[in-house]
Amino acid sequence: MRIARLRAVGGEGAGEFHRLEGGLAIPMRGGGPPRAFDPADLLAPVTPTKIVAVARNYRDHARELGNEPPATPLFFLKPPSSVVGPGEPIRLPPWSAEVHHEAELAAVVGRRLRNVSPERVREGLLGFTCLNDVTARDVQRSEKHFTRSKGADSFCPVGPWIETELPAGEIAVECRVDGEVRQRGAASEMIFPIERLVAFVSEVMTLEPGDVISTGTPAGVGPLRAGQTVEVEITGIGVLRNPVVA
Ligand code: ZN
Repeated sequence: MRIARLRAVGGEGAGEFHRLEGGLAIPMRGGGPPRAFDPADLLAPVTPTKIVAVARNYRDHARELGNEPPATPLFFLKPPSSVVGPGEPIRLPPWSAEVHHEAELAAVVGRRLRNVSPERVREGLLGFTCLNDVTARDVQRSEKHFTRSKGADSFCPVGPWIETELPAGEIAVECRVDGEVRQRGAASEMIFPIERLVAFVSEVMTLEPGDVISTGTPAGVGPLRAGQTVEVEITGIGVLRNPVVA
């Protein structure tokens, strides 16, 4: 099932959750009658209290930045204010000269999770979406801490919707810039699988419905320039597309 958050009719309000089915958008609770689905109405499909992002979860990506793969999951937070939806611009800040894309598979929490075991994680998740963990690489290198380099406004495109089930078989995580493939990895290459990651994080902080756990990026990260369009595509979910502006 696909769950999208759509602009309310008339464009006002915080957005409403809809089930997408056969070209229709069907309100999840209450709401009005079904309407024709218009991709221009898509908002970020989450309103998280926090975005937990995992670093160095693909060996090839850890190596390309000169890092050893970690022995336990290494994670950091992106603020809710960094979230943008499909089609919204990624804004290059004046204080960085090297802003990178990071295509990632993200899990969306469906109910409160605290000290959950890996075996019970899946039942606590609402589903999965595409996420671009946009990073000011020059700032990340110079500061070591990730808050400024990964926390800027518009540095967390999410969407286009939540897919409640992933297909069996290989899940490809791909990033394209102006149509050129920059990153392509398989979710099966993750050092720590999603169940381990969510369980590990839930031993540290309570995960609330709508929170996002992003699972790390495969090799091939690289710069974004104003005027480009960046796409994150994940098998069984769809394409998250954002323009880049100065
Ligand atoms: Zn990342």
